[in-house]
Amino acid sequence: ALAAPITNSDVIALDRANVFHSWSAQKALNPMVIAGGSGSTVWDHDGRTYLDFSSQLVNTNIGHQHPRVIEAIKEQADALVTVAPAHANHTRGLAAERILAHAPAGMNKIFFTNGGADANENAIRMARLHTGRDKVISRYRSYHGNTGAAIVATGDWRRIPNEYSRGHVHVFGPYLYRSEFWAETPQQESERALQHLRRTIELEGPQSVAAVLLETVPGTAGILLPPPGYLEGVRALCDQHGIMLILDEVMAGFGRTGDWFALDAYNVKPDLITFAKGVNSGYVPVGGVIISEDISATFDERVFPGGLTYSGHPLAAASIVASIDAFEEDNIVENAAHIGRDHLTPGLAALAARHPVIGEVRGRGVFWALELVQDQQTRQPVTPAFMGRIKAELLNRGLLPFIADNRIHVVPPAVVTPEEVRRALDIYDEALSAVN
Ligand code: PLP
Repeated sequence: ALAAPITNSDVIALDRANVFHSWSAQKALNPMVIAGGSGSTVWDHDGRTYLDFSSQLVNTNIGHQHPRVIEAIKEQADALVTVAPAHANHTRGLAAERILAHAPAGMNKIFFTNGGADANENAIRMARLHTGRDKVISRYRSYHGNTGAAIVATGDWRRIPNEYSRGHVHVFGPYLYRSEFWAETPQQESERALQHLRRTIELEGPQSVAAVLLETVPGTAGILLPPPGYLEGVRALCDQHGIMLILDEVMAGFGRTGDWFALDAYNVKPDLITFAKGVNSGYVPVGGVIISEDISATFDERVFPGGLTYSGHPLAAASIVASIDAFEEDNIVENAAHIGRDHLTPGLAALAARHPVIGEVRGRGVFWALELVQDQQTRQPVTPAFMGRIKAELLNRGLLPFIADNRIHVVPPAVVTPEEVRRALDIYDEALSAVN
C-alpha cells in the first residue's frame, strides 16, 4: 500500500514534539512549513506556494535550489564528503581563490568557519593577537552572531591565548531617521557619529582597542545605509590609533546590496571581512574571514590559536565555487543592482506615497526596509500586534515576509525577476490596506 502523503499538520506535529527552536518561547509556536523551493518561490505540503521575500534569513541570494550549485554539491559528495582542515583539498583552495578574486586588493587569505558568528569570533581573535590589545568597539543596533563562551570554557592550552579580561564597548552608529545626535542632515549624522566614536576611543584608551567591528550596512537592525563619509571616517580613526577595522559582510555581502561586497560602494578598506550567508546561499553551512596581508603575516611564524573540525568543508567549498561561478555567468550581482534601481526604488516609493504608515523607505539592491510608524511626525513605531497582523495578511496573499521590530525588510533573492517584484509590490499594497 502507498504511504499517505505528508501534510503540513504531520510536519508541525513532528516538529512540535521534537524540535527546539531558536530565539523563541517554545510553547505557543506554530511554525510555517516549507517543503520545497525554486528560485524566489517556496511551497508547503498542502499545495500553497509563497514568494520568498525573506530569502529565509536573508541568505538565499542565488535563490532556492539553483541547479548548478546542487549539481556541484552532488559531484563533491561522490568524490569526498569530508576532510580535516589540516589537509590540502583542491575544492577548498578553489573556493578561497574565488572569494579573494572579489575582495579588496591587499587581502590574501581565507579562514573558513561554519557560519557568520564564528567568522566574527575568529576575526576578533585575529585582531586581538595582531594588535596585542583586547577591547572591541561595535554598535548598538547590530547583530554579529550567537557564540562566545566555548573557547573560554576549554581546559587545554587553547583557552589561554583567548582569555581576555576586558571585552566589548558599544557606540551609537548613524541612523538619521532616529538620530541619537539631534542631526537633521546625513552630513551632520555622519560627523556627529564619528565624533562620538572618536571620544569613545579616546576615553576607552586607544592603546586598549584591538578592533572596531561594524556591519557595513547593519541588516537585522534595520538596513541602515552609512551616510557619506562615515565608513571613511571610521577607517581614518582606526588608522590614527592602530586599530583594526573588521567589516561584517555576513548579510550585506555577495550581491545583497547590488555589489559583490557592500563595502564596494564606499571608499574604505577593512583589515578583516567576515562573510557567510550569500557566499553559497546557505546550501551548506559555511562562513569565513577574509584576511589582509598584514594580519596573515602575523601568523607566518606564530601559531594561530583557532580552528574548527569542519573548517573548509568540501561540500561547502564546492557550493561556494559553483555559486560564485553562477553569479558571474548569470550577472546576478548586476541583476540585484538593476532590481534595486529600476524596480524597488520606484515601487517602494509609490507604496510609501499610498500608505502613511510607512515612515521611511531605505535600502539598495535587494536589501530594503520599510519602517512602519503610527504617526509620521512623532515616528512612533507601530505595535508588535500590528506587525503580527501585517505578517498574517502577507502570508495569506502568498508572500513570505521578513519582519523585524516595526519593519518589513524587503529582501528577495538577488535572482528575483521584475515580474516577481511587481507581484510582491501588489501584495504589500493590499496587505497594508487590509490592516489600516
Ligand atoms: N553577522 C550578521 C551581519 C548577521 O546578519 C548574522 C546572522 O544573521 C551573523 C553575523 C551570524 O551568522 P550565523 O547565524 O551564520 O552565525
